[in-house]
Amino acid sequence: TKQAGKASYLLYSPYMDIESSRQFKLERDLRKAIEQKHLFMYYQPIVDPDTNQMLRAEALLRWDHPDWKLVSPNEFVLLAEDNGFIDGLTHWTFKEVCSQIAEWKKKDLPLVPVSINVSPKSLMKSSWVDSLFGAITEAGIDPSMIELEITENVLLDNHEGFQQDMEKLIRAGVRFALDDFGTGYSSLLYLRKFQMDSIKIDHTFISEQISSKDSAITKAIIDLSHELGIKVIAEGVETEEQLLFLKENGCDQIQGYLYERPLPHTDFEKLLVHPILP
Ligand code: C2E
Ligand code: CA
Ligand code: CA
Ligand code: CA
Repeated sequence: TKQAGKASYLLYSPYMDIESSRQFKLERDLRKAIEQKHLFMYYQPIVDPDTNQMLRAEALLRWDHPDWKLVSPNEFVLLAEDNGFIDGLTHWTFKEVCSQIAEWKKKDLPLVPVSINVSPKSLMKSSWVDSLFGAITEAGIDPSMIELEITENVLLDNHEGFQQDMEKLIRAGVRFALDDFGTGYSSLLYLRKFQMDSIKIDHTFISEQISSKDSAITKAIIDLSHELGIKVIAEGVETEEQLLFLKENGCDQIQGYLYERPLPHTDFEKLLVHPILP
């Protein structure tokens, strides 16, 4: 982290040096990465556990860095948020996903809605709305093919402005999912106030399903969401045991390595042709 990087001046450790020099290089290279076409999207199916049919997909950012191969977005999205580059990155993801959907449409492939992660930092300024509308219009796709994954933090800060932006998009057909549910300062009231199509139960609750507390929380989230008319997606599902538990408790949709990993667009395209997963 940044904090640890700063601390390394006080408390010398060669490992910290390596880490902060990597961060320095990533930060320096990120601006060039878009122009040099080193950024791209992977797509991961989200599946109906009763039929194994793919219902939608999540777009996940990848950076093919010349020195480090694939760098995780966990690493560079935070850097982009700190150095003011995040809005450019958000704009790029909108354009990239919309034009990818347009390409699939041109090939006459059966489409599924694709969800895009949006940093709360970008959602603070209203310019993201025009950026998204612009990308949708330019690509000539149906706005209902786009979903946005947002986190609870957005709902807490600046929520009036954001709510208006959100309603404009919902009227056009764009849907919203609340990501990483249960990890932020969740106020259940927000689920009523903001029109969420679905919530995504954070993978930490899924991976520790064995613990009875986590399974109680998961059950409660599913029941509550259903009472509010909101669909529930479980992410990070890796085992049959987890899948069984989620199915038994009425979880609507499943995302995880058990079905499929995030895939490059060429591999994902094959799933669009045969959207029933093994
Ligand atoms: P997230 O939104 O919670 O995305 C889910 C993460 O779980 C992805 O990591 C995905 O590859 C991973 N995953 C999926 N299935 C499994 C599984 O069965 N087991 C395990 N262990 N992991 C699984 P990824 O792709 O490394 O992305 C990490 C985070 O980076 C995302 O977490 C999201 O917060 C952020 N991110 C990704 N793409 C974008 C983007 O385009 N824009 C922004 N702002 N953030 C992004
Ligand atoms: Ca997500
Ligand atoms: Ca998530
Ligand atoms: Ca996350």
